[in-house]
Parts: sequence; C-alpha cells; structure tokens
Amino acid sequence: MSHLVDSLRALAFTLKSAFRPPVTVHYPAEKRQRAERFRTSFALVHDADGDEACVGCLQCEKVCPSQIITISAEKRESPITQKRRGYAKDFTLDLNACIYCELCVQVCPTDAIVMTREPERPAYHREDLVLTMARLYENETGKPLAWGKASNLMEMQDPKRGQPPAEPKPAKAAAEQKPAELKPVAEPKPAAEPKAAAEPDLVKAD
Ligand code: SF4
Ligand code: SF4
Repeated sequence: MSHLVDSLRALAFTLKSAFRPPVTVHYPAEKRQRAERFRTSFALVHDADGDEACVGCLQCEKVCPSQIITISAEKRESPITQKRRGYAKDFTLDLNACIYCELCVQVCPTDAIVMTREPERPAYHREDLVLTMARLYENETGKPLAWGKASNLMEMQDPKRGQPPAEPKPAKAAAEQKPAELKPVAEPKPAAEPKAAAEPDLVKAD
C-alpha cells in the first residue's frame, strides 16, 4: 500500500513539474546575462600615448601561481617618446592552466594586462588556448575589457577607501594649540672665591 502511495506522490510531483516554466536556456542560441565581474581571457593594452604599456618588469610572470606566463623582456627606444625603456619582446599566457585569480592583473605597475569579458572561449586544441603576444594585443580592441585593471583594484582594496579623514590625536591637537611655555632664565651663579693658599706645615726643630 505504501508503495502505491509513494508512486502516486511521485506522479503528482512529475505532473506538477511538467507545467513549471523551464529554468534552463537553449544554449548557444540563447545566452544568460553574465555577471558584471565575469571574465574569461586576457589582453595587453597600450598607454595614453599609444605605446605598449607593458614595460617587461616580469611581475606578472613571478606572481602567477600556475606559472603559465612566459615573458622575454628587452630595453629599446620608444617609437613614440624616443626614450629608452623596457618592453616585452615576447609574452605568452597559457589559458589551459589559468585559475583566474587575477593576481597578474593586480601586480602590473602600468595597467598593461587586463582581463576580457568575452562570454565563451571554445577551443578544439590545447594550442588554441595559448595566448601569444599578438593575440593578447588583438584582444585589446576585439574583446570587451573588464573594469579591473591594477590601479582600480588597488584603490578598491585600500582600507582607507570611503573613510572620513582621520582627526588629529587629542594630545597632539592640545600641543598644537597651547603656546610654548617660557622657561625661567637661570640666575648667574656668583664667581667662586679663590682658595686660600695652603699654609706650609711647621717643621719641629730639634
Ligand atoms: S589569473 Fe591566470 S595568468 Fe593571472 S596570475 Fe592567476 S593563474 Fe596566472
Ligand atoms: S604585463 Fe605588467 S606586470 Fe607583466 S611584465 Fe608587463 S608591465 Fe610587468
């Protein structure tokens, strides 16, 4: 009897669920809206002068926990400013092992590397997920860039962000308001009297 009740209960639940609106979507024809912080790939960008922003400092290569960034750096004259500076001669990022921690973005001193917000990055071969320097620079204009460049992320993590300016400490404020007390001038001591010459010992005559 209990089996029959359970079966009827399961059938009722199935019938009820059959008329619910679906929670899935027909991907890839239909795509869900991505979260604002969603990010999938990387790009190297140029600075305000149009020069390559990467100075080849290797910070991103050193910090990457998956060790998937490989950079060969060099120094040469900038074609824009004619100043000698560092550049990445070669830059490779292997997405196959990326854990999307964004540390490489956070440590960049020149905001040169950013993540992109492209919805998917399908690939048939592992090599397709290796981002060469040319592909990284292509992504600068070809893909929507994420908001989080290094300077924005550092500002966001600043513990003083949004705090009112600190008030001066009471002791320090009182010291600043109180005029300096004048010390009494010490009276000059009288000059020491010269010592009397020692009298010679009397020698007893025999
Ligand atoms: S986001 Fe990827 S490439 Fe960047 S540091 Fe993390 S693991 Fe390395
Ligand atoms: S991308 Fe940034 S952190 Fe990496 S080498 Fe270039 S300047 Fe340095």
